[in-house]
Amino acid sequence: MVDMSHPARLEEAARIWKESNIRDLLTKSAIAVGAGSATDAGLPWALPTNDFKPIELAGGIPDPAQLPVDDLKESFRRVLESTPKEALRYGGVPGFEGLREALAERQSRLEGFRLEPGNFIINNGGAGGIDNVCDAFVEPGDVVIVEAPTFSGSLRTIRGHMPEIVPVPVDDDGVLVERVADELSRVEEAGKRAKLVYIIPDFHNPTGTTLSMERRERLIEACAAHKVLILEDTAYGEMYFGKEAPPSIYAMAQGQGILKAATFSKIIATGLRIGWVQGREDYVESLVRVRFDMGNSPLLQRAIADYMERGKLDPHVEEMRSVYAEKCDVLCRSLEEHCQPYLRFKKPEGGFFLWAECQGPSAKDLAKAATDEGLIFPIGANFFIDGESNDTSHIRLAFITATLEDLEQVGPRMRKAFQRALGER
Ligand code: PMP
Repeated sequence: MVDMSHPARLEEAARIWKESNIRDLLTKSAIAVGAGSATDAGLPWALPTNDFKPIELAGGIPDPAQLPVDDLKESFRRVLESTPKEALRYGGVPGFEGLREALAERQSRLEGFRLEPGNFIINNGGAGGIDNVCDAFVEPGDVVIVEAPTFSGSLRTIRGHMPEIVPVPVDDDGVLVERVADELSRVEEAGKRAKLVYIIPDFHNPTGTTLSMERRERLIEACAAHKVLILEDTAYGEMYFGKEAPPSIYAMAQGQGILKAATFSKIIATGLRIGWVQGREDYVESLVRVRFDMGNSPLLQRAIADYMERGKLDPHVEEMRSVYAEKCDVLCRSLEEHCQPYLRFKKPEGGFFLWAECQGPSAKDLAKAATDEGLIFPIGANFFIDGESNDTSHIRLAFITATLEDLEQVGPRMRKAFQRALGER
């Protein structure tokens, strides 16, 4: 048995720490961001208080039944057999060259102009990429323009870099770009420096809207005039159900004045934690400069490159589009059938989320009542910088994770939740 008694000097050192509060040492940034919510991390925000098996409509998480497990297993096996030493040692900051080559080849095809491996840095998901961009370009006192609402996790990332955050509303055609242009002028007149406009142009999280062509053009023009970078987040860009989203802002801007954050999370699996930022080579070099975590796992990156080289990614994405289109149909039909006149929404044309406005109870009361009816989803307030002072009536329903059978049950359960919230049950 090890003797665990300590000399008095060490007892005294331990006592000093036991009696101290770690907050006294925290950075202003850590205090500013707070603890964050489950929604920021794509997790369910609550669990039901009864025995109902809950239906999760919470995070942007691909259908577990559709994960390409066998193909990934095969890729990991091939990598570990053919290049075990390379896969299991440090791989460098920008990321595995083979994956950056595979991305350059695929993105050149999708963007419609030639990209090279040097236009890519591999990050810990899209979230890691967005953090990396903020590390390079955003510091206290800068201004960052965001959509209102926007993905709560990114709000947290941006807030962690302590800029002044200026929210601009979105409507059915995406962010109000004239308002963005006005804000950019106002910021400049006030002698401040706007650094980034963070935009989710395709099948937006949480509203599902897509930025129109005209607005994309106007945004590029306004940001260039003020020399403010666009940070385009295309997490859902490939998940269209009918018509494709317009060309990326990145392609329209010919890669000038823009960084594009993208991810394998939504087209393969969130647990891979692999995404990338695409940009002009000198922009990517700026990101490499402030990347201190020694890069992503070479094993994972090599497995994804192998998966892509074996031609597995495109057919998988194609299949997911039809799986999610059907799920979206089933959810919309169920809500239309059972939740009138309580819920107002526009059917999404892609992405993972349905954004709906509650008539009657507040979103918060509805979400609470829905938890007891076995439905878990976040309220719209989570996606605004000032929370409930901005929005009390919206909810966001993710339709990709639940089964079709469960999605058919959402309408009846939601109706009961409305009745419960209105005191009718
Ligand atoms: N951007 C958007 C718009 C998202 O919805 C998400 C995940 N919910 C992310 C980025 C981050 O995803 P990941 O880091 O898993 O790629």
